[in-house]
Amino acid sequence: MDEQAFAALAQPGIRGLRAYDPGLDLVALRRAHAAGALVELGSNENSHGPSPAARAAMLAAVDTLYRYPDPLGGDLKRALAARHGLPVERFLLGNGSHELLMMLAQVFAGPRLEVLASRYGFAVYALAAQAAGATLRLAETFPPDHAMPRGHDLQALAAAVGPATRLVYLANPNNPTGTWFSSAEFAAFLAALPPTVLVVVDEAYLEYVTDPALVSATALLDRHPNLVVTRTFSKAYGLAGLRVGYLMAAPGLVAVMERARESFNVNGPGLAACEAALGDQEHLAKVCRGNADERQALADALRARELAVAPSQTNFLLVDFGRDAAPIEAGLVARGVVPRPMGGYGLPNCLRLTVGVRDENRRLLQALDEVLA
Ligand SMILES: *Cc1c(COP(=O)(O)O)cnc(C)c1O
Repeated sequence: MDEQAFAALAQPGIRGLRAYDPGLDLVALRRAHAAGALVELGSNENSHGPSPAARAAMLAAVDTLYRYPDPLGGDLKRALAARHGLPVERFLLGNGSHELLMMLAQVFAGPRLEVLASRYGFAVYALAAQAAGATLRLAETFPPDHAMPRGHDLQALAAAVGPATRLVYLANPNNPTGTWFSSAEFAAFLAALPPTVLVVVDEAYLEYVTDPALVSATALLDRHPNLVVTRTFSKAYGLAGLRVGYLMAAPGLVAVMERARESFNVNGPGLAACEAALGDQEHLAKVCRGNADERQALADALRARELAVAPSQTNFLLVDFGRDAAPIEAGLVARGVVPRPMGGYGLPNCLRLTVGVRDENRRLLQALDEVLA
């Protein structure tokens, strides 16, 4: 039996899916370059790296690898609860926030129900909806000439909510655009929705935000039991390799999700490292300050080259080249700089570039100048 034959045996939601396509072969590229020579700007990772305390805690946890980890992740959840000023019952840990985003649809969506997201929203939302067998609905976004090009249009999202809508996914700030909406706009959006529509706000990049008009949606949790906020240790905390994320929601919602959670979904070194990382807010602040400075400098440098750069509150920039970006991507890769192509998002003229550390950004601009010459 081949793949097609097995697909016929799979659940309907799975039949329409394709396996994750990592794009280019990063492992082969790394092998072809001397250590440190490849500039990887495709996955919004944090080149500053994690807190040294996280590394030490992870290494200490290695001595007990023969044990199962704490199935409740109690220490990390208590540290998170203290950090956010929320009760422990509001927290659920995931093997990356990706797992939690998938679980939300698995638990709450399904056939005959609709999942709503924005065009140019994070790819995982569509995947979660389809895997759960739900109907995916995409709201349109602002046109490119708008002040917030391709950002979430909360009015369009609100208008797309119907009687079958069970889940709404949106990221603030958004990936892959880098754009954001204010906390006030979001509060108004949430207040207008029926309480049976669960609204998932993905705050993977919230730590990087410098616009005072945007603060975490966690402030709204008390008033809105249909609100779910997801966060991750993969970005500003610099621990993408450990796969730890979390969500904050009503204790009752968390309790229902616990029924579907794999008992040991977060590994021991991950739990230990993330707890230590949370305890080093000085490191986090340094990372975020460095990112804000470099984000501005890189955006200025790109705009000085007459490229269209979307406003960003994240650690990446969406750049529109006004023509097919595939040859530009190929030119950059040939020079040892890895961007993220956007064809899969329906933005073939764009590349998404992680804001690296200064030397990485310098090498990016140098490669780009050669390619565009
Ligand atoms: C990177 C990213 C995540 C984080 O995923 P993890 O599974 O926690 O590594 C979640 N949402 C968005 C929008 C992202 O860009």
